[in-house]
Amino acid sequence: LAVKNKKLEEIDRIKTSFFTDISHEIRTPLSLIIDPLEKISRELVTDEKLQHVIDIMRRNGQRLMRLVNQLLDISKLDAGRMKIILSEQDIIKSLRILVYEFLSLAESKQIKYIVEIPDEKITVWFDRDKTEKIISNLLSNAFKFTPSGGQVNCIIKIINKKGQLPKQYLEVKVIDTGKGIKKEELSKIFDRFYRIEERIETDVPGTGIGLSLVNEFVQILHGEIKVNSTPGVGSEFIVTLPLGRDHLQPDEYILSESSPAVVKSEISGASQDKHQQKPEIVTGEHRLRILVIEDNADLRDYLKESLSDEYDIVTSGNGREGINTAYTMIPDIIITDIMMPDIDGIQVCYQIKNDERTSHIPVLMLTAKTTWDDKLKGLKSGADGYIFKPFNMEELRLQISNILTLRENIIRRYSNIRSFITGEAEIKTVDDIFMDKLIKLINKHISDFDFDVAHLREAFGMSRMHLFRKIKALTGQAPVNLIRNIRLEKSVDLLQQHKGNITEIANSVCFSNPSYFARTFKNYFGVAPKDYSKDHGLKIRGNS
Ligand code: ADP
Repeated sequence: LAVKNKKLEEIDRIKTSFFTDISHEIRTPLSLIIDPLEKISRELVTDEKLQHVIDIMRRNGQRLMRLVNQLLDISKLDAGRMKIILSEQDIIKSLRILVYEFLSLAESKQIKYIVEIPDEKITVWFDRDKTEKIISNLLSNAFKFTPSGGQVNCIIKIINKKGQLPKQYLEVKVIDTGKGIKKEELSKIFDRFYRIEERIETDVPGTGIGLSLVNEFVQILHGEIKVNSTPGVGSEFIVTLPLGRDHLQPDEYILSESSPAVVKSEISGASQDKHQQKPEIVTGEHRLRILVIEDNADLRDYLKESLSDEYDIVTSGNGREGINTAYTMIPDIIITDIMMPDIDGIQVCYQIKNDERTSHIPVLMLTAKTTWDDKLKGLKSGADGYIFKPFNMEELRLQISNILTLRENIIRRYSNIRSFITGEAEIKTVDDIFMDKLIKLINKHISDFDFDVAHLREAFGMSRMHLFRKIKALTGQAPVNLIRNIRLEKSVDLLQQHKGNITEIANSVCFSNPSYFARTFKNYFGVAPKDYSKDHGLKIRGNS
């Protein structure tokens, strides 16, 4: 019997290693398909239809990659080779990027998505990859099983326990108003390959791997996962994970020296096509979005009804929820009442204006009080406009459109990237600081072919959508274009200084294709690089 057991063990080992080898063999060529596709879609394609086709290829490639990665995780788990990989970094920043990656999915599925996450920086040892996989799986499921019009909440907390080990925990709650799970199924959803029988035919595709991996990762990290669910009402998944490394045995973990991996879009959502799309496409042509924060339900409805012919309106009933919604949706303008219980409009405005993600959003205050004192307080908090109740709807519309016109002036100011490159720009406001940081960062990586929007997300701790809306609102350009334009600006300096021929200069600002460089250069400056270098006294238009 012992011999037989030994033989079985050996077969098992061979099976696992064969499986792992094959998975690796699939990953390499697959990434050699996906990466060039990303490059093509980023740099070479201008035709919208072709872009769409390439997007489908890229998305499906990523989906396949995710599946192979999941299978690899399974085989690693089975072979007992899964270790905790710790790095010390700001956990809030990495989770913020992750959870907000689901914004565009929420928008395209018309699901209300509310995120609560602490504001402070919390630097701690934790396993970033596993933690992110756990949360992104739970969020993927929540969005997958919640219909349009529903709601998903993601609440992230850091819990401190004095005098105990571990002293710090991460708690993540993912709550949805989806179809829910029957009591008798609840114990089985964490089983490998388990999918709820009656849904297999009708539902979105799945493999039944997600939750089993979530569960195994949670166990490895010595955490806990709980689920409450009511069919037809919704589900709530609660994960708690200990942070730090004092509670771990030395042989349980490896310290990762390398800098944190840039979060690639592939980490999120298993079968969410929309989610994988570039935000440039998802958010391309939209009506302007207004967030109305007003505690009086009648007035809120009135505003919503009157303005929704021209704008997309989202409403909040109190200051706290309003700020949260602003962070989640990044509206184009915010209208807030001043007098509200708990957090009032002044505080709302102050918080919006002092957060990098939202500082560019104009805020219009509504108030019944007519004293100067209040008006001054409102303006001091950074409000862009003021309107007294009772107001006339036409007046409000006019104010909104005035403010939006003012925005265009701001775009004009920030689209002059050269002044930021040369350090001539005046740096005063939160937005100035943001722009300065942004352009310096891109400039620093001017010759780095790998540098892209994902690095910006990582550096600013903002999601794709946040970064897109922020940069678009300030400069009128999508982040990819901004990076490209800064490279073009740099190439002019190089041309002026005769730092090589055009191909060499194109290359040193990361254009591998000289004719593409020439074309974009001409589009941007109105003159071809060869003409420019011939007659470098030629005045360059210098703006997009
Ligand atoms: P799948 O790839 O099928 O989504 P999972 O392991 O992630 O696999 O989930 C297992 C099953 O649990 C799913 O098929 C689904 O029926 C159920 N489930 C998971 N999350 C939710 C949720 N938030 N709401 C309703 N059902 C869920």
